Amino acid sequence: MPPPESASTTLDALTREAAHLGAGGQPVSPSAAFNALPLTEAEGEVARQMQICNACRYCEGSCAVFPAMTRRLEFGKADVHYLANLCHNCGACLHACQYAPPHEFAINVPKAMAVVRGQTYSDYAFPQALGALYRHNGLLVSLASAGGLALFLALAVAMKGGLWHEPLAGNFYAVFPHNLMVIMFGSVFGFAVLALAIGVTRFWRNVSPGEVPEGGNAPAAAEAVHNALKLKYLDGGHGEGCHNEDDRFNTTRRLYHHFTFYGFMLCFASTSVATLYHYAFGWQAPYGYTSLPVILGTVGGIGLLIGPVGLWRLKARRHPMHGDDAQNPMDYGFLALLFLVSLTGLVLMVLRDTGAMALLLAVHLGVVMALFVTLPYGKFAHGIFRSAALLKWSIERRLPSRLRLGSD
Ligand code: SF4
Ligand code: SF4
Repeated sequence: MPPPESASTTLDALTREAAHLGAGGQPVSPSAAFNALPLTEAEGEVARQMQICNACRYCEGSCAVFPAMTRRLEFGKADVHYLANLCHNCGACLHACQYAPPHEFAINVPKAMAVVRGQTYSDYAFPQALGALYRHNGLLVSLASAGGLALFLALAVAMKGGLWHEPLAGNFYAVFPHNLMVIMFGSVFGFAVLALAIGVTRFWRNVSPGEVPEGGNAPAAAEAVHNALKLKYLDGGHGEGCHNEDDRFNTTRRLYHHFTFYGFMLCFASTSVATLYHYAFGWQAPYGYTSLPVILGTVGGIGLLIGPVGLWRLKARRHPMHGDDAQNPMDYGFLALLFLVSLTGLVLMVLRDTGAMALLLAVHLGVVMALFVTLPYGKFAHGIFRSAALLKWSIERRLPSRLRLGSD
């Protein structure tokens, strides 16, 4: 006997059929069918606020969300997911809004968007159960994973011959053989990449514009990459930045984001160059203090100390109406892991020629593995989904508006 169909599967099928009939029997794209699904309470709140904003339009110049909003009269599930990930929570539209609480309209776009954004991280996560676990206990999961993995590796080293040893001239492979490290990190990193790819593919399938602008998608893709790398919208649209604890503009959030992002990328570049040295030229680690991998890793590591500390401090002082407090553990968990990866990496580099190297290496590798395992479920996923939303916006704004109301 076939298994009973779940209520949500039946609802999905009925919704697709209704969308199909509504389209005059024409084939319905996955995103159109998804857009017709019933909204959750949080998504309904975004749709309600967007209806009011669409009548007001005072914030049109603040960010990409408002011009994207004006291309719609109704807000379905896909629209809400797209707009929520296009919002970068700058707070500008809250401080500008005459209908913000205590007004009876209770417009708080940053908060409504943040709640849905958090929901999308776990909705699109692979596997979903891990997404939900990390969403509610991010800091605990991050620190417990880092501590547990570091302890496991330290015990493995202790069983092999002791944690304290004669200086090994920074030869990490004397502690963990190269091939073992490749297997350990290759599998964990491969899992993170796969989980992120599945998540963003699901997201894109649901929000995809479904059309190609004149001249193709390449100019839109180039613009989206430029906007993402430059953190264009964190300048508030006027260059003075976004809001943090009050209604003053502030550019420090953008600055600390840059430290964090480029710090991470430099550390990634350091590992990539070291891999190239190893496999292409046969140059084995340890590398000298003036070598390219060490310079890239040191500069990136310093960026990864400054950025997360700055973002943590800004977050702790953040205006209480800007975001969704339920996501704080997830955000702090990610910042904590980035900071610890950098701190343990830099300490390891400085003390690599001492008897503490094996213990420091075990701790650093444990923290790095914990970061990789949790990457697909929190703020890093935000970067991926936001880039996809920016790409959709760059494509969409090159397409003629279906509303044909004049201003487009
Ligand atoms: S946030 Fe407020 S001021 Fe801005 S467009 Fe919406 S309703 Fe108007
Ligand atoms: S919080 Fe900032 S990014 Fe989000 S909708 Fe408002 S103005 Fe746009």
